[in-house]
Amino acid sequence: IRYMKDCGMGYGSVNHPVDRDPVCGYNGIIEDVCPKCGRTEDAHNQPFERIRRITGYLVGTLDRFNDAKRAEESQRVKHEVPATDSAAE
Ligand SMILES: [Zn+2]
Repeated sequence: IRYMKDCGMGYGSVNHPVDRDPVCGYNGIIEDVCPKCGRTEDAHNQPFERIRRITGYLVGTLDRFNDAKRAEESQRVKHEVPATDSAAE
């Protein structure tokens, strides 16, 4: 957010992806394997629930997105900001 301010960005937002494993109940970020129980989506033929913000709203899991929204989500880029020296601030 500080970096956005320094760049003069008039509008920005922070997205927090939330995944859930309906089998074991884990909530957090799940890549291909659930970090709690170690299963993949194929293991119980049960997909992970992936909640994403789209067009400003949390609208439920990815499976309810239309093709355009799915494309937008899949093309997102994570931005990293170098750590700042807090003593200099
Ligand atoms: Zn799990």
